[in-house]
Amino acid sequence: MIPQPPNKKSEDHDPFQASQEADWHNFRDHLTTADKLGRRQWVYAKEPHGKWTQRRTWVSGLLIGIMFAGPFIKINGNPLLMMNIVERRFSILGQLFWPQDMIIFAVAMLIFITGIIVFTTAFGRLWCGWTCPQTVMMEMVFRKLEYLIEGDSVSQRKLAAAPWTAAKFAKKVFKLGIFFALSFIIGNTLLAYIIGIDALVPIVTDDPRLHVTGLTFMVLFTLLFFAIFTRFREQACTFICPYGRLQSAMLDENTMVVAYDNKRGEKRGKLQRDVPLVKRIAEGHGDCINCHQCVAVCPTGIDIRDGGQMECVHCTACIDACDTVMDKVGSPRGLIRYASLNSIEKGEPFRVTPRMKLYAGVLTGLIALFLTLVFTRSAVEAIFLRAPGSLFMRTADGKIENLYTLKLVNKTMRELPVELKLDGGTGQLEVMGEKNLVVPAGKLLETSVLIQLEPTAIMGATTKLKIGVYSNGKLMQTVKTVFVGPRTETQP
Ligand code: SF4
Ligand code: SF4
Repeated sequence: MIPQPPNKKSEDHDPFQASQEADWHNFRDHLTTADKLGRRQWVYAKEPHGKWTQRRTWVSGLLIGIMFAGPFIKINGNPLLMMNIVERRFSILGQLFWPQDMIIFAVAMLIFITGIIVFTTAFGRLWCGWTCPQTVMMEMVFRKLEYLIEGDSVSQRKLAAAPWTAAKFAKKVFKLGIFFALSFIIGNTLLAYIIGIDALVPIVTDDPRLHVTGLTFMVLFTLLFFAIFTRFREQACTFICPYGRLQSAMLDENTMVVAYDNKRGEKRGKLQRDVPLVKRIAEGHGDCINCHQCVAVCPTGIDIRDGGQMECVHCTACIDACDTVMDKVGSPRGLIRYASLNSIEKGEPFRVTPRMKLYAGVLTGLIALFLTLVFTRSAVEAIFLRAPGSLFMRTADGKIENLYTLKLVNKTMRELPVELKLDGGTGQLEVMGEKNLVVPAGKLLETSVLIQLEPTAIMGATTKLKIGVYSNGKLMQTVKTVFVGPRTETQP
């Protein structure tokens, strides 16, 4: 027998007790997806229908199209989005970023985070409900396939409770097979976003022994997505994603969220056919007929009528469910709708608050900074480092030489010829090995450079030098370095 915890109110708890028993009457004190022993309560969400579901289906279709096409889209020969952490090469909107561009990359990440904050402050968890890949794939692909294979929530519940027969086994294997194939495609797509489609194709087509690491990640990603979409589901939003927990710091009473209009809905009560509407109103009843349809469709298993909750991903399913009920009972739609607390409590329309303006200002500033950094950065970046362990050498005719290691990063997807010129002063610069420097597209070229100075040009133990980096006659960058010389050559 399952032990029942005592029905104590939270205020009865001893605050000095190390751990307290959950108040099972208080929805904020426990998870709706776990029972009193902490066991998972599977959510059999009813399939939602309605205008918001329709809109989300269109948006999701577009996003899924972009997501799967993304690795194949190239701008100026560069991937639309690539996060090659292994080779430390990144591409955003066709712009290649190297570790040297970390500041630009960091600004891009700040824009992404600030953008989400701006939209969250104004429109709640718009990201979660409409654009997050987890929600889009779970609700619009995997769950829809589940409805097709196993039927609506009632059939799914019955199938789960039914004994294992050949028919049930076949249905489950068929569903899991499709889920696995989809997880494999998603896993490969993620890998393509990390290493680029050009690196992924050989992993798929070559001898597997040549790409053990790539194949390992392919399998790991596939298993990860299979586990998430088959078993973990809404728990990914509740337990793993930090954004759901952060939202309480971003939302305020002016934020538009999916909300239940408690002023209009309460006191809730079952609709009784023999009780006229006038009597129902006289008894203090509101528009909520306590049909639980909003709860039945919720993919996270919560009751929106309890107010804003961390589990709510703003998927709008409860809006559609309630609108359908309102249509049937002849009441106006919108008992559950996009609304702010102020609009429900005080009837205030949506307004742009100073906080929203502040966040929007920060976002605009970050975008301006990002564009400036991107459009003013050089197509080629040179790094001059003094050769490790070397000091200086003196030639037979009395000149002083320093050896450098030169790294040239080509940030474009075309070959770049590069020429180096010593800026001012008396001296010569010689590239060791191949004299004509041509940096391959999107690659790094490393070579050695010898700089020779007349003793009269040496300004002490270290002399500051400037080297111009040219491509096709155009100055791309001026690099500063130091030249080490003997102290005795120091000029006054
Ligand atoms: S669907 Fe609407 S009427 Fe039914 S319980 Fe939910 S809020 Fe009340
Ligand atoms: S409460 Fe409504 S909007 Fe929130 S997750 Fe559940 S169904 Fe979606």
